Amino acid sequence: MTDYKNLIDGEMVDNGEWLDVLNPANEQVVGRVPACGKDELDRAVAAARRAFKDWRKTSQEERQKVVQGIAAAIKDNADELFRLLTSEQGKPHAQAQQEIYGAAGLAAAQSTLTLDDVVNQDDDQRLSRTRRVPVGVVGGIVPWNFPVMMAIQKIVPALVAGCTIVLKPSPFTPLTTLRIAELIKDVVPAGTVNIITGEDHLGPMITEHPDIDKITFTGSTATGKKIMEGASGDLKRITLELGGNDASIVLPDADVEKVAEQLFWSSFSNAGQVCIAAKRVYIHKDIYDDLSKAIAEYAKSVVVGDGSQQGTGVGPIQNKKQYDRVLELIQDAKDNGYKFLTGGDKDPSGTGYYVPITILDNPPEDARIVAEEQFGPVMPLLKFDSIDEVIERANNSEYGLAGAVWTKDTDKGVEIAEQLETGTVWINEFMHLSPFSPFGGHKQSGFGAEYGVDGLKEFTYPQVITVKRDAVV
Ligand code: NAD
Repeated sequence: MTDYKNLIDGEMVDNGEWLDVLNPANEQVVGRVPACGKDELDRAVAAARRAFKDWRKTSQEERQKVVQGIAAAIKDNADELFRLLTSEQGKPHAQAQQEIYGAAGLAAAQSTLTLDDVVNQDDDQRLSRTRRVPVGVVGGIVPWNFPVMMAIQKIVPALVAGCTIVLKPSPFTPLTTLRIAELIKDVVPAGTVNIITGEDHLGPMITEHPDIDKITFTGSTATGKKIMEGASGDLKRITLELGGNDASIVLPDADVEKVAEQLFWSSFSNAGQVCIAAKRVYIHKDIYDDLSKAIAEYAKSVVVGDGSQQGTGVGPIQNKKQYDRVLELIQDAKDNGYKFLTGGDKDPSGTGYYVPITILDNPPEDARIVAEEQFGPVMPLLKFDSIDEVIERANNSEYGLAGAVWTKDTDKGVEIAEQLETGTVWINEFMHLSPFSPFGGHKQSGFGAEYGVDGLKEFTYPQVITVKRDAVV
């Protein structure tokens, strides 16, 4: 077992109090991290505030170089990092590798983003332009499903925009992020990036801290609401990436054999613990029987187990709380007599938070397992008749994160996409995010956006400078 320290003001430090981090595959302690409180937070914020004075004045090129250094540090140590990620998060090695290389790729790509001045007026009377200025010290709070990707997608745009950051990983998955902190300690100027760990109660301290100017948060909608409330005291800027209950819509012209496997992984990647996983799969009645059979058949070939073992496709649920919640949803479905194509029948007791692959056969629309975000290896298949009906059903949710349409007729797919009330819609794929396109939720799935220039702007204020050209002074 290794102790992982925090990064504050360019130094790796601890406070002598520790939190254990478990491997969800076997419930054994894999590492310890500092259990921080107000004192450590104050120190990190003060360091970020001091560093902001110089960092805000750096050129685009200097920031780009530092961020590319972060990308390189992650890529060069990918082998160690993905193994550590599996040991704390549970995801299979191949998916952990994707996350680590994905985070390095995101950092490299986003280092190239720029926010150029915009000329609003340029005539005999005035020259007016809008420039973007960094908001200041950012508080970043991230969840446990993609701990590294989420940390990088907060740290990188903050630095590129000229801000400094204090980041808090989830207490369930802080290890890989702290190892990255150690690797980038001498890459980033002291105080620009601070990473501190602690239990959930550290979150509200960040949200309410008087010397933090902006909160960027990824996590549940319930916590997002608390953050909005906590940040309201001094009107901090906020970006919230929250929950989702994304719908996939499969039209009758889709090739059953070809889409079955893709649909499976759109729900079961990372054991379903993905905000943009397909959580409701609507299949047209003409192909429902064939496609549901093909998905259930494919599911039989996928191994649920320890992510560090070769051949594992679906790892454990990341933590006990989420494990209990997913089991409760499955139990509710059983109690209501809904039909299972796979799962539901096994006793998941034993060591490790394993849940069998669970596919439900056309449960009612108001079943909890359909209406709530499952965030686990669960896939309700739902039969539909007409396009108008399925659009209405897909939109009947408090969430609005993403969705997909599967069809050979891509024009038809786009026509449907335009009627969905979500921030992202894919035609014939799922979960693809580009570093250059904004990603954000509608309705209760979020507030603001990450990624792309829109995401970068969220770390800045607009400032308009106007020169009166025909003035007499
Ligand atoms: P969570 O909201 O419980 O926790 C997220 C983070 O917030 C953790 O670091 C936690 O310590 C901290 N936190 C807890 N209480 C807090 C408070 N009162 N104030 C401030 N911070 C607090 O979420 P989770 O269970 O870690 O993650 C799962 C959820 O995240 C799911 O709902 C999922 O859909 C969502 N998610 C969304 C996206 C997205 O981009 N939209 C991505 C991943 C996950």
